[in-house]
Amino acid sequence: MATAGTEKRHALAIRLRLMEESSTMAVMVAAQKLRARGIKVVDLGAGEPDFNTPDNVKEAAKRAIDANFTRYTPATGVPELKAAILQRYRSDFGVERGRDEVVANVGGKQSIFNLLLALVDPGDEVLIPAPYWVTFPQIVYLCEGTPVVLETSPETGFQVTADAVRRQLTARTKVLILNSPGNPTGAVIPQAEFVRICELAVERGVYVLSDECYQRFLYDGLEPYTAAALPLELRQRVLVSGSLSKTYAMTGWRLGYTIAPPEIIAAVAKIQGHETSNPTSIAQAAAIEALSGPQDSVGVMIREYQRRRDYLVPALNALPGVRCFNPQGAFYVFPDIRSYLRPGVETSDAFCARALDEAHLAVTPGSGFGTDGFIRISYAAAQSELEEGVRRLGSFLSKLG
Ligand code: PLP
Repeated sequence: MATAGTEKRHALAIRLRLMEESSTMAVMVAAQKLRARGIKVVDLGAGEPDFNTPDNVKEAAKRAIDANFTRYTPATGVPELKAAILQRYRSDFGVERGRDEVVANVGGKQSIFNLLLALVDPGDEVLIPAPYWVTFPQIVYLCEGTPVVLETSPETGFQVTADAVRRQLTARTKVLILNSPGNPTGAVIPQAEFVRICELAVERGVYVLSDECYQRFLYDGLEPYTAAALPLELRQRVLVSGSLSKTYAMTGWRLGYTIAPPEIIAAVAKIQGHETSNPTSIAQAAAIEALSGPQDSVGVMIREYQRRRDYLVPALNALPGVRCFNPQGAFYVFPDIRSYLRPGVETSDAFCARALDEAHLAVTPGSGFGTDGFIRISYAAAQSELEEGVRRLGSFLSKLG
């Protein structure tokens, strides 16, 4: 009689064996369990805006439903949406790209997934700077590629440099992933260095996948830039993944896009045609309004995030033994809690599990981002929650001693 566990009973595909579940989702689930027991959890784990989707965007979606815009659309999005994406890039960055260089996707996640599926063969290396967004290596595993981690250091503000990239390129490197501003550190690659990295990659025949989902979230007067505006000779190998999730507080709508050379776009379209077909028609109508309508809500969010960061970083650095780099983008900080790791709390996972159990504070362990000894705190949360979060973290730390 078979008594084996699930793994033995089901012959799951080999590509799944290396994949891990999302640590950010795991924190969310654990926090929800506590809340279900009536416990007030301070949740600084979430990677999504605490703002609502702007009213004009919601109205556009309602109009789309009433007009029965509820059927299949072309798999890569309606022409009006592609035009709206290109128009946004034209007015924000002065860049002209063709209709055959853009597709709409089901979130930025699908853009990244489809690009890697289109490019990565078994054994190909994908270079990923760490700390990295949890999903990057997992997608590489799904594509049967090999993620190769490029370590960066808190002492240099987690900077990715062309020199560091050069040291890790091999004959098998197929893609380099850049994510500036980045999750989980909020670090921004200065534009000149970004261009140097792309030049190096292109010279070595390596594709650059630039994940720009936090593109607009920059502070201290830094100007946004995009890889979509690189000179023609670099564009051939530089692929942009974008998203409306954070920019317009539209995480649940699932709308992202890809800007890339026509042949790559054709490959993504081929995949998408058999995979999901089109992003939801109603979300596409909402996205057209988000991209073409008033942009004030974006500025409001950016100013508020900067205010929160300006509170949070000094507050964390004032806690004994905590060191927090001051990031210039996204809405995360990534403080160093290594001085609190000890028997009983050996890892950031144990640290976060205990912070949740004992202080009812949800923060995300650095291990899932490839860098143990750190925690990710999201400041996409109300100021009062941030203050309470810092208070709870402070008492938890003094209890740890
Ligand atoms: N890239 C990064 C770095 C992210 O943090 C996220 C979401 O958290 C995404 C991409 C994907 O966003 P979405 O699929 O909601 O567009």
